[in-house]
Amino acid sequence: MSERIAVEFVNVSRIFKVQHQDAVGDVRAVDNITLQIQDGEFFSLLGPSGSGKTTSLRMIAGFDRPTSGKIMLYGQDVSNLPPFERDVNTVFQDYALFPHMTVGENVGYGLMIKKVERQEREKRVDEMLDLVRLPGFAGRKPSQLSGGQRQRVALARALINHPKVLLLDEPLGALDLKLRQQMQVELKSIQERVGITFIFVTHDQEEALTMSDRIAVFNQGRIEQVGTPAEVYEHPSTPFVAGFVGTSNLVSGDVAKRITGSEARFSIRPEKIHLTDGNATANIDMFSATGLVRDVIYLGLYTRYLVELDSGGDLVVVEQNLKTTSMDVMKVKGQKVCLLWKKEHVRYVGE
Ligand code: ADP
Ligand code: MG
Repeated sequence: MSERIAVEFVNVSRIFKVQHQDAVGDVRAVDNITLQIQDGEFFSLLGPSGSGKTTSLRMIAGFDRPTSGKIMLYGQDVSNLPPFERDVNTVFQDYALFPHMTVGENVGYGLMIKKVERQEREKRVDEMLDLVRLPGFAGRKPSQLSGGQRQRVALARALINHPKVLLLDEPLGALDLKLRQQMQVELKSIQERVGITFIFVTHDQEEALTMSDRIAVFNQGRIEQVGTPAEVYEHPSTPFVAGFVGTSNLVSGDVAKRITGSEARFSIRPEKIHLTDGNATANIDMFSATGLVRDVIYLGLYTRYLVELDSGGDLVVVEQNLKTTSMDVMKVKGQKVCLLWKKEHVRYVGE
């Protein structure tokens, strides 16, 4: 990966004025974001609905402008440039293909606008259709394609001009789970082959973890953490990130004190906790807590347990069903257990 900065947000805010009954209020859709995205990265903006992801993406594309701060593309301040003067393309969730045009015409549209001659155009359309694994589809109409195929056509159309940055706003959101997982792998591999910077918006943490080189976690218009999937998952830097990325137990106050000796708030991932019978004892490098199993959910590959701690509060524990059957795990419900986990897996996440 080269070290050039593709996209940079410098103290960017976007405030919308909205009418509330008789008064006009401010919505801080994006609230003082500073961020650098490297050339060639697969970078995800991850966050719940309404956290400012789309607004951020629209400002990179030029469909929207910052209220304050600036946006840089490869070192150039583009804050006031219109979309067509930015070397950026966008793929939306709803594909937005031209229904009356063939697949080939859709994909070649950007080249036609640029008056690239027909022979060259057809050659590049074929290359793009090969890239997205739709060779021979040039003559079809969008209505003759499946959802996944349409999304690949939209991708080919957005890539044919070789933009420096491709923006993708929840592009897989309309696909069913299986197809979405397949497209996740494919998108990532296409990005690696073309080497273009992809900025990918999603509210699906698993999707972001699977595909990204790095992730920015958004919450209420602000970025809570930027890091690789492993960093964000293993070392969440705020309670919000610990809760949003993966499942996590957050423990604080008196309950924390009885476990660790300190009231400092910590997070512990459910899969790091071991469920043992009530008589187990902890090593020096482990924390432990006793409790009662309130609920058992058998999920095939693994089982999720809800354990009510004797010291108050509860912890979610996930264990793989390596040797157990659904019958075995159900027997655990209502039993006294001792939970053990390594101290090194605890993350202190602050207030
Ligand atoms: P996300 O893509 O993360 O779901 P958005 O960027 O679309 O979030 O929206 C962030 C916030 O800004 C939301 O509260 C949304 O209601 C608000 N917002 C977005 N666009 C507008 C607009 N044009 N006018 C007023 N409020 C807006
Ligand atoms: Mg959005």
